[in-house]
This record gives sequence, structure tokens and C-alpha cells, in this order.
Amino acid sequence: MSSFFDTKIEFLRGMGPQKAALINKELNIFTYGELLQHYPFRYEDRTRFFKIREINEDLENVQLIAKIRKVETIGDGRKKRLVAHIFDETGEMELTWFKGIQWVVKKLVTGVPFVFFGKPNRFGRKFSIAHPEMEPLSQVQEEKSFFQPVYSTTEKLRARYLDSKGISKIMEGLVQAALPQIQETLTLEIIQRFNLIGKRDAIRQIHFPESPELLKRARFRLKFEEFFYVQLRLLKLKLTRTEKSQGQILNQTDLLNKFYNEYIPFELTEAQKRVVREAFADMKSGKQMNRLIQGDVGSGKTMVAFICILIAISSGAQACLMAPTEILANQHYEGLKEYADLMGLKIALLTGSTKKSARKIIHEMLLSGDLHIIIGTHALLEDIVQFKNLGLAIVDEQHRFGVAQRAKLWGKNENFYPHVLVMTATPIPRTLAMTLYGDLDISVIDELPAGRKPIQTVHRYDKDRLKVFGFIRKQVLEGRQVYIVYPLIEESDKMDLKSLMDGYESICRAFPEFPVSIVHGDMKAADKDFEMQRFVKGETKIMVATTVIEVGVNVPNASVMIVENAERFGLSQLHQLRGRVGRGADQSYCILMSKYELSKDSRVRLDTMVRTNNGFEIADVDLKLRGPGDLMGTQQSGIADLMIADLSKDAPILTLARDAAEILLQNDPELNNPENAMVLRQIKSQKKHQMNWSRIS
Ligand code: ADP
Ligand code: MG
Repeated sequence: MSSFFDTKIEFLRGMGPQKAALINKELNIFTYGELLQHYPFRYEDRTRFFKIREINEDLENVQLIAKIRKVETIGDGRKKRLVAHIFDETGEMELTWFKGIQWVVKKLVTGVPFVFFGKPNRFGRKFSIAHPEMEPLSQVQEEKSFFQPVYSTTEKLRARYLDSKGISKIMEGLVQAALPQIQETLTLEIIQRFNLIGKRDAIRQIHFPESPELLKRARFRLKFEEFFYVQLRLLKLKLTRTEKSQGQILNQTDLLNKFYNEYIPFELTEAQKRVVREAFADMKSGKQMNRLIQGDVGSGKTMVAFICILIAISSGAQACLMAPTEILANQHYEGLKEYADLMGLKIALLTGSTKKSARKIIHEMLLSGDLHIIIGTHALLEDIVQFKNLGLAIVDEQHRFGVAQRAKLWGKNENFYPHVLVMTATPIPRTLAMTLYGDLDISVIDELPAGRKPIQTVHRYDKDRLKVFGFIRKQVLEGRQVYIVYPLIEESDKMDLKSLMDGYESICRAFPEFPVSIVHGDMKAADKDFEMQRFVKGETKIMVATTVIEVGVNVPNASVMIVENAERFGLSQLHQLRGRVGRGADQSYCILMSKYELSKDSRVRLDTMVRTNNGFEIADVDLKLRGPGDLMGTQQSGIADLMIADLSKDAPILTLARDAAEILLQNDPELNNPENAMVLRQIKSQKKHQMNWSRIS
């Protein structure tokens, strides 16, 4: 159905093909519908007048009433500028023009009140506004005092009179024409229950608000709607999946009981027990499990995974565990092999470096069912890897894997999709998890094993390096081990490698008595492993590395994490790195090294790390600093396409919208009810317009 909203924007009044082509190109907007969704990104409050004394640099545009005392031209030639000195009863400031001076100067009449409007900047002690908008107070019309929309635009558009004002003019015409065409997209019940304003009002008020109150309600309504449809989509996917995908019933616990009674090295935390119960309930339910386990670094996800593996094997199935790097796969293998051997289970490791002959044997044993557990990297995804009966697929550190890869695992069992457990230590705020992984069930291990001492974190400047070295020496002499991590950013690989190598050399020089390991991305996998193993065994005392060690590496005796150029790391990365220590009984430390001059954001990041160990709190700050678009996975989930809602600020609205979607689907899973017809219609129209929906798994 081609509708009014699909009309090309060149047909708008005052537009024409050339301007339209420019908007297509600059704003990626083609149709009426898309232009209508080009919401103002802020509003100028023309109801508020500032006094000169109130002005400071942090203010965006300000509006003030003042008189002109004196006008003068300063400089000449290209540097010539016009300055008007203005005043009100609280102070004085300046207005400046660099262009159109002859024209402006005629309008500047001394002694009569003007309304000026613009962005103030500080010069020495004085404030100045360059090229302000202005109008004699006597000519200011009443209706101007309402909120004026400000639209984002570009330099090229501005040059064609499509500045915010120009767009606003076009928008006026469009909104007028569109209003009668706009249909309600939420059910009456939802509108009433959440006290929402109608779609038509919302569109009108978002562009041309009649009052702050109505603007607020318009924004709320449109954000709610955006979240509602994202959630509905995800919940529907989940519903379809649970209905359609039968799961193998894995309900036996013999091996688990044996392990629990005889071999388990520690008591599970309450959180671990709860998550095991949640997973077990899924595995025996007859439906396919798709569960995300979120747990901060060190919360003990591996043990939960192993227990689930034991349930799978007790019930006659095989299990696989996929990790994002060889180092990590290796480490899982080493750790789990110890338990598997005790239990008499066969376990193997399959990575890119597995020799051809060994590979062949592994493939055969998987197919015959002789191999119970396989640990590996993406190598597990290759088609040649076939199982006799894969019952459980575990993916560690999900954010390194794409959704497509997760889906590929599903194909590894012809009769049933294997149950899937995704484990992530990236603490994403619950709201984001809901949206990113809305099609998964979520379990949270929100407790660390008892007896862990909180890691002490400090921020030190490069000039304190000698003291830091002294601290390293003391720790190593007490028997501890130390990580020193350097940033590695792809574009500047070479420089980073050099700074890593320089760092390595200076460490070797500073500590000739201690053996030092080095690991970085340019090394062969076997060499990396070799060095890693030396450190794990305690043969080397200091590990100089790039972020290859970021994920999952477990060396309980390492008690100091030093991060060089810490200002160059993102918050979640710093948190991951810090999580490499604090795994044993000793007090652990994290030292963030940086240069002295820091950007505001860098400082917030480092201060946050010093202030808290809580991954969720850190994730919240991260979300606020970076916005959701930057977080892993958001690109593929469709939430990067939110037009108005903001995951970092609108979490409460998301929660409401999620509830609304849940209730709707509970009452009418197929959306057959005539009262819900508009919801179905909206989903269809979104499908047509947003191809990226299909990328959600
Ligand atoms: P992560 O969740 O980061 O993957 P791990 O599974 O690597 O954490 O566990 C971190 C460390 O804590 C490991 O040395 C593990 O043996 C230990 N651990 C796990 N669960 C417990 C527990 N309940 N009590 C004591 N130590 C535990
Ligand atoms: Mg782990």
C-alpha cells in the first residue's frame, strides 16, 4: 500500500527537485514519512529572557533585552569587525559582526530596547555574541514567544537556505498536510492505561509545541511508541521460537550429583545456584533454551557452565563451549579438563592451531559420540564439525561473536536445536540487555564468591612511575605476579607496538632480577600460548601485554594490574582488565597510569574506575558517556535506529513499553483481535520500511 507517507519530498511545497536531492543526500531523508520523523533536537525557549549578569559560557543560545550604548568598527581589511556595546540594568556585554557590516550598522539604533538572541562566548572578562539575531522590542510579535524547534542540518543545506528556520518552514507545511493522514498506532487500551496523547497530537506538538507540558507529553508518547515496537518485535520472536523450537529434554543429574558430592572445590554462591536452577528448568522443559548469563568478571560463570554441561552429558547428550580467542579457549580447556578427568569424561580442544591429524580424530569422535565435551574457537562453527547429539552449546563472552554465528550453532543438531547458553561479562545495564537480547531469557550472577577482597584502584600520572615500579617490586618479592597492559588501537598498530616494546624493555631494565613475559597480537598463536603458560605457571613474574589478555584469563596469583595510557581505554575495557586481578585470596590492586592533561571524558572514566568496582554502575556511566550506539551489538539490534528515544536516559519509559508489549501479547499472541489491528498494521509497515529489522536474531 503506497501511502501519503511514501510520497517523495520533492513534491512538497517550497521544495523542488534540487533541494530535495540535497536533503536526500545530506540527511538521508527521502519521503514525507521520513521527514516527519526528523524531529527537532532541541527547542529554543523564547519565553525566557536572561539578564546580562546571568550569562555564562555553559549556556546555549540566550535571549536578552538590552539597549545599545555605542557602536564602533575595529580593525580593517579582512580583520574588520563591528562591535556594539549593549547594557541592561545588571551589566554590559558586546555583540560582534564580521560580515554584512554595512547592512547591520543601519539597524543598530542606540537607546531603544532590542531583543537579542545568540550563543554567548567569553573574551577575557566580557561576554560577546557573534552575529546575534535581533529585533527592536517594539516589533517582537507575541506568537514568537513559544518554543521554537531547532532541526539538525548541514553546511551544504544551510547554503541553500535550509538552515533550521528553512526546514521549520517546510515542516510547517508538511505537518499541516500530514495531520489528517496520521493514524493512531497504539491501542486505545494502552493509550488510556499510560495516559498517552494521540499520535496526531504528538506529531504536531513535537514539531511545534504549544506549551512545555504538551511538548513533554509528545516526547513521552513518541519514545514510548518506539520502544514499544522494538520490544513487541523481540517478544514476538521469542514467542515464535519457544513455540516452534522444541528442545531435547535434558533432565538427568547423575554426573552432577557425583561431582557435587565428591569433587567440587568450593561451595557455589547463592547466585550461582539460582542461575543453575534457571538453566536446568529450561533444559528439562522440552523447549529450546536460549539464555544469557550475565555476571561480572570473577563471578564464576565457568562453574555454572560446567554444571550445565554435566546435566547435558548425564542425559545422553554432548556439549560444546566456544570462546572468542585461542588463549581463552585454551584456558577453559585446561580448567575444565581437570574436572572432566576426575569425572572420567572425554574432553578436547579445537582451535585454528589444532593439527590436521588431531582435528580428524576430534571430528570422528564427535560424530561417534565418544567425545563428551569440545572446547574451541570459531573453528567449532565449521561445517565439518558434526556431533552425534549436541545438546548444549555454550558461548562465552558473547559480544565478540555475531548473531549469525550464534545461529550457526543451532544447526549442529538435526533433530533439535541445541540448548544455548550465552555468557557475558560485559555488564550491560538491564534496560540495554532487554533491548539487545530481548529474545533471550536473562540470568544474572549478581554476587561474587565470598572472601574476595575488593580491588583497590588508583590513578597515577606518568611522573609517579618510579613509585609504581617500587610497588611492583614489593609485590613480586611477596610472591605475587603483575600485569602491565598497553593499549592497542588498530589504526596506529605500529606505534602501539613500539610503545609496547619500549615498555617491555624498560621493565626488563628496571627489574633485571624478575623474568618477564610479553604477549601481543602480532605473535604466532603458539608463541602467545607458550608465554601465557609460563605466566600461568608462575615462571614469569610480570606479564607485559596488549589487550589480548582482556577477556577471561585467569591467574589467581596475579594481584596487580597496571594499565598504561589508561585514558585511551573505554570504561568497559578498563573494567574487564581490572577483572583479571582480584581472583585469589590476596589484596589486589589496579593502577591506572595516564598523562597529566586529560579530556573531561577521560577524567570521568578514570574517576569512575577509582570510585567503584560495580560493573553495572560502570556500565551506566559508560552508556551515558558514549551513548548506546557505540556499545557492542547495538548496530545489529535495530536500537541504533531509534529516532527519539535514548537508551541512556529513557530507561523508565522502556520498562513501561516492555510491560505494555508483554501484556498485549499475553492477551492476543497472534494480534487477531480487531482492537489490536493497528498494531499489526504498524508492524507490517515497519517491516516494509526498515529492512534492518530482519537482522535481529
Ligand atoms: P568469570 O565469571 O569471570 O568467568 P570464572 O568462572 O573464571 O569467572 O571464576 C573466577 C574464579 O573464581 C575462578 O578461579 C573460579 O574457580 C573461582 N570461583 C568460581 N565460583 C566460586 C565459588 N562459588 N567460590 C569460590 N571460588 C569460586
Ligand atoms: Mg569467564
